[in-house]
Amino acid sequence: MENCIFCKIIAGEIPSPRVYEDDKMIIINDIEPKAKLHYLCIPKTHFALLSEMGEREAEVLKYCFEKIASLEETLGLQEGYRVIINQGENGGQTVRHLHIHLLGGEVLGGF
Ligand code: AMP
Ligand code: ZN
Repeated sequence: MENCIFCKIIAGEIPSPRVYEDDKMIIINDIEPKAKLHYLCIPKTHFALLSEMGEREAEVLKYCFEKIASLEETLGLQEGYRVIINQGENGGQTVRHLHIHLLGGEVLGGF
């Protein structure tokens, strides 16, 4: 997808060290961390919103959540973490390529 920063990171056009990568997703460190650990899990399939999800996107997201769960220890998230998917304008979504924030490494404040 043209002009999508996360598609460019996935394609290697913008350098960003991978914490994890496979054929369906990458995990990188957020450039502006909001917690001691702040990862972004980015599906390699470009879609912006949950409302755009078809069968393929739903499969990829299911895969991402299962993989995240299996990587908890590797990521240092075994004591718990917060999962956030910002959606649209009111949700504060700045990058219109769906991604999963993983925040942890410390006790997080409440909402
Ligand atoms: P959101 O506001 O939910 O769309 O999240 C976008 C996130 O991407 C923000 O937390 C940004 O700090 C992060 N971000 C933007 N550009 C980069 C980049 N080049 N590498 C890593 N994280 C980035
Ligand atoms: Zn994209």
